[in-house]
Amino acid sequence: MKVSVDRDVCYGSGDCAHRVPSVFALADSGYGTVLPGQEDSGDDPQVREAADWCPSQAIVIDG
Ligand code: SF4
Repeated sequence: MKVSVDRDVCYGSGDCAHRVPSVFALADSGYGTVLPGQEDSGDDPQVREAADWCPSQAIVIDG
């Protein structure tokens, strides 16, 4: 499944990058981002947990 960050909602807390640094990073723009090549990590339990814990619910997981 796909994972992405909705930049209209993200406020750059950095929680996702702290929890799963192999998939997420805090971009220079100040927003959370999915690292290149990690866009299909939506099935990873850690990614799902990061989505659950994102304080603004900005992490989108879909098929
Ligand atoms: S945890 Fe959510 S609000 Fe924080 S940087 Fe990641 S996507 Fe943005």
